[in-house]
Amino acid sequence: MKEATRFEPPESVAGAPFWAATRDRRFVLPWCVACGRPHWFPRDLCPHCLATELEWREASGRGRVYSVSVMAKAANPAMAGREPYAVALVDLAEGVRMMTNVVGIAPDEVTVGAPVTVTWERLGDGRHLPLFRPSTAPGTMDSPAPPGASSRSNA
Ligand SMILES: [Zn+2]
Repeated sequence: MKEATRFEPPESVAGAPFWAATRDRRFVLPWCVACGRPHWFPRDLCPHCLATELEWREASGRGRVYSVSVMAKAANPAMAGREPYAVALVDLAEGVRMMTNVVGIAPDEVTVGAPVTVTWERLGDGRHLPLFRPSTAPGTMDSPAPPGASSRSNA
């Protein structure tokens, strides 16, 4: 098996603050100042109300698996050597859904509804990619942090 590599996402202008925060392993989400809702992915305007005044807030880093697929064969050549791996949609406590990988568990043991916590993989350019691992304390998702609360997880 060849050495595992990693697909490194390109950085958009709208997503630059997100990636800047990942250099310090800080997990932030874009929030709309006008309607007070978060969204994902980063973009120039709020997908709910089209306002353009957005701000970045610390996110809890906690969520639950909404769906999961096990990739037996790398769909992207840059992921060769990592298979099998779990590609998941994770519903974050803040209410947005993110595509990611679940790590730290056998891919076929990732279950829908499982609580997960953000963890980081360092990229070649100093950014970090947010991945998710099973939460060590089940049920911590039941009382999500209030908007703006700083609940950093640098595990
Ligand atoms: Zn809005």
